[in-house]
This record gives sequence, structure tokens and C-alpha cells, in this order.
Amino acid sequence: MGDSKVVRKNPYKYCIVPCCTNTTFKTPGKLFFSVPKDELARKRWCKAMKRDERKNKKFSSTSSLHCCEDHFSLENDMENYWQYRLSNSYKMHKLKAGVLPSIFECQKKHSPRPKRICLQKRKRLEVNSSQKTHCNLTHTLCGQK
Ligand SMILES: [Zn+2]
Repeated sequence: MGDSKVVRKNPYKYCIVPCCTNTTFKTPGKLFFSVPKDELARKRWCKAMKRDERKNKKFSSTSSLHCCEDHFSLENDMENYWQYRLSNSYKMHKLKAGVLPSIFECQKKHSPRPKRICLQKRKRLEVNSSQKTHCNLTHTLCGQK
């Protein structure tokens, strides 16, 4: 045994996304990204994660906050995803500039369902009318040009 033993400094971090309970203790395999300290960027993050700043005043502008990897599309959102993957280094993970957390599986049940009216109408028309009228009608209904 030499002194090549790598000591990973892994301080306690937790994900500040509402509904998410990941912490570096509970899910040590997950990445935790620091929330930017810039006031404007931090506001954008809070908005993206539906975190009400007024209800969470304990976050001062200088405190270290983290958001876990569950809320990012790592391959797209990380600046050095493959480098990180290949080297497996803890310190290397970095988000692209301007990237916001965008995946909130844990909050899904609260979000409204997407509008599908146009699609449903088109389907009904496809069944009931000929190809020619269908095309005219759907486009009028959808407002497409
Ligand atoms: Zn999280």
C-alpha cells in the first residue's frame, strides 16, 4: 500500500429542489451542482425549480446551495460530460453557462397536462372526412399556415 490512496473530500450537500430529497449522504453517487451565487442567475434557478424565495428566506445570497443531477440532462447540460465520465474525477463536473435545472420528475404530478386539443380534433377529422377536407379543416382549426 502506497500513498496513492485518493481521499475524496465529500462534504454534506443537499438538493434544494422542492420535493427532491437527494443528499450526498443518501445518494453519494449523484452529482451536486452549485447554484450560482450571482443574484440574477440564482433567481432564475429558483424560478426554474419552482422554489419560492419568499418562503425560503434562509438562503442568503452568499450561502452555498446545490442542485442534484436529477434535474439536468447531463449529456447536454454539462460542459465536460465525457471528460467527467472518462476520468471519473469529482472536481471536474461543470455546467454550461446559462444552463438551468429543467427536469423535475418529483414535481410532475403538480404540473398541468399539456394541451392536446388540436391533436384530438385532427384525429376525429381523419376518421370522419375525406383527405381533402381534412387538410383544410385541420389547418383552419390549428391556425397553421
Ligand atoms: Zn434533486
